[in-house]
Amino acid sequence: MKQKEKEGSNENLRVVIRVRPPMAREIKDGKFISTVQAAPDNQQLCIFDYHAIELVPDEELEAFVQNPANYTIHQFTFDYVYDQESTQVEVYETTAALSVDSTLQGYNSTIIAYGQTGTGKTYTMHGFSFTPNSDQLGIIPRSLHNIFTHIQMKSNSMTTFMVRASYLQIYNESISDLLRPDNQQLNIREDKKRGVFVENLSEWAVRSPPEIYQLMRRGNAKRVTASTRMNDTSSRSHAVFIITVEQIEETPEGKRARVGKLNLVDLAGSERVRVTGATGIRLEESKKINQSLSALGNVIAALTELKQPKSHIPYRDSKITRLLEDSLGGNCKTTFMAMISPAIEAFNESLSTLKFANRAKNIRNTPMVNQDQDQGALLRKYQLEIQKLKQELDERSKLPIDSMVSELEKERQKALEDKQEVMSAYEQRNRDLVQEREMRKQLEEKISALNSQMLVGGQKIEETPQFQNALEKQQKLIRQQYQEKLQELEKERQNIEEDKAQTDKYKQLLLKQRDIMIALTNRLNERDETILQLQEELDAYDKLQKELEDINQTKDSRIQQLVELLKQKDIEIPMNLELPANSFINNAKQQLLLAEMPSSKMILVADPSSNSYIQTLPQQGSYHHSSEAVTQYELKNQIDINKKLELDLKISRMEQERQKKELVSLQDQIQKYENDPTTEQAKKSVDLILNQLTKPANGNSLATVAQELQKLQKILSDKEASPKKAVLKFQQETSNLKQQEIINKLIIKPSKSNNQLNPPPNKKQKQKSIEDLWN
Ligand code: ADP
Ligand code: MG
Repeated sequence: MKQKEKEGSNENLRVVIRVRPPMAREIKDGKFISTVQAAPDNQQLCIFDYHAIELVPDEELEAFVQNPANYTIHQFTFDYVYDQESTQVEVYETTAALSVDSTLQGYNSTIIAYGQTGTGKTYTMHGFSFTPNSDQLGIIPRSLHNIFTHIQMKSNSMTTFMVRASYLQIYNESISDLLRPDNQQLNIREDKKRGVFVENLSEWAVRSPPEIYQLMRRGNAKRVTASTRMNDTSSRSHAVFIITVEQIEETPEGKRARVGKLNLVDLAGSERVRVTGATGIRLEESKKINQSLSALGNVIAALTELKQPKSHIPYRDSKITRLLEDSLGGNCKTTFMAMISPAIEAFNESLSTLKFANRAKNIRNTPMVNQDQDQGALLRKYQLEIQKLKQELDERSKLPIDSMVSELEKERQKALEDKQEVMSAYEQRNRDLVQEREMRKQLEEKISALNSQMLVGGQKIEETPQFQNALEKQQKLIRQQYQEKLQELEKERQNIEEDKAQTDKYKQLLLKQRDIMIALTNRLNERDETILQLQEELDAYDKLQKELEDINQTKDSRIQQLVELLKQKDIEIPMNLELPANSFINNAKQQLLLAEMPSSKMILVADPSSNSYIQTLPQQGSYHHSSEAVTQYELKNQIDINKKLELDLKISRMEQERQKKELVSLQDQIQKYENDPTTEQAKKSVDLILNQLTKPANGNSLATVAQELQKLQKILSDKEASPKKAVLKFQQETSNLKQQEIINKLIIKPSKSNNQLNPPPNKKQKQKSIEDLWN
């Protein structure tokens, strides 16, 4: 169908209506009563206001709607009216295509879908399908397809294009990036060059339609997720898809840059502003319900009241009006697409939408082609940057290498003086060179990356033969230069390497010598130390010997003195007198007490440890009058006696040990005897007998007693050879043994009153006193 030119129509602001087909739930018994009717010219639309139709029974409905008395007609004229049968292709070709063309010419264009929830806004904009060539494709995919076809078909190959896409959502007055999920809470900014824009919104350079479909799927998936999570999110949120087309055209007059922007807006459900309606009256209440949609109404109202100066337009009341400032009364070609449902229950919403759309018709836009924006156009900027980078690359290929070589030359001279220093400097140089190469590579990559984002009409820039030739030439030249420099540097490196090897050899030799010197010095030191030690030891021996000699001398002189003294006193020195090494005289614990020498020559030795005296007879021998000699003799005797006593004691201890063992074995036998069952039996018999005897006597009990007694007698006779007897026998034996032993030792108790000893008792007396003691 062809768009009719109509007098008074405004090509910068077009308003079209799309009526969607009835839904299954709106059709009753296969019948559907529509409230709207489009005229065959596709510009006029009537909407029927049936009076109190909700009170009419279903069966009378058909007759009711036929009667003109039952309805009022509202008639509107728009730029285009799409009825229920309209297709996506039709909508695109007769309306959207015009906006795309404008964008390609360098205009800002906007298509705004407005209407109640469920009237087909999203369907019209997206189409719920990304299958290429699908009938269901909406305006967005078709626009993109159109743009790329345009680029490919453009015969003039001297035009370079760049296409970028962004997709955002405004929900609860918060802007989020639908193509980059982490990009939330974005702000709207404005500057002279870019106009109004969303700060930090991601822009994606796209080179083919499939790339964009992928982006859209990503964005829609995010929007769909949001809507399933929060019931009617999509009916409360606005989605804006932005396509920017930049192009630079080489003309005989010079370069011509143009930037066109296409905003495709899917607004929130308009039922949210029912109270405000198309009248645009500012109501705080409706603002609360959906601030942005009522703000849109207000902006349109302000724009259409012609008296109002432009500064009073309340664009800043909401994010969507601020974002669409250019599209509403500014530098933009705008198309309003109002969607309505034909169902009776949607009448109020539909009428309000039509009124809103009708009012919007009066908005006056003043679009201009955005051209010669040298600084603003990103494409232009890219081209300038590429040029700059190329220059930089040229400079880098020449200057730094020359200076590097001369520096290396200087360093070579310095290297002769200090080779180590040169090595480190040389390494640093090498690193610089690698860095330089890396930088060159990065620059080349940057150029090719920028080139790849540009599209030339018909072909890409880097594919043009001029570009290819120039690039190859340049690359060849640079490669050759680098090759030469590298060879020089390699030679240099080899020289330095050789010098370094020589130095290393010499260094090794020196190190070896030094090690030998150190080893020798160590050995000398060790020898010195040994000599010193030996010297000290020798000194110590000398000193000791001297001391011993002194002592010997002292002793000799002392002996001499003593011999002199003995001679003086006329004392004979007895020969072979032996004293025990551990003499009692030297023992502080022992004290000797010599009794007056009686005629019997008996000696009594006091032993303080046992508090007793030991009586013995001295050995026969001649006595000298010297008391010392007597003492020595008696002492010797006493020692003999002691030794004998000690021997006796040992024997007696052994005997005691033997007895102990015997006692233990006997006790064992007793234990066994105790445990013997017959013992238990005997005990029982005794108990029984006792029991019978305590009762009054009768014949029976006496018989029992007699019986038990007999049993007992038998048990006792069995136990004649019982261990108890053996024990008794043993005790008797041991007591005799002990007595004998004690007698042998002749122990006498000292009297406590004085130190006078009792006269020795005769043998009988002795025996008796010991028996007393034992008992
Ligand atoms: P809105 O975005 O306005 O809330 P939708 O685009 O989600 O509404 O449409 C609601 C339903 O109606 C969807 O199932 C959609 O497929 C269907 N629909 C809307 N317009 C049309 C149309 N012109 N032709 C066929 N189906 C449509
Ligand atoms: Mg929707």
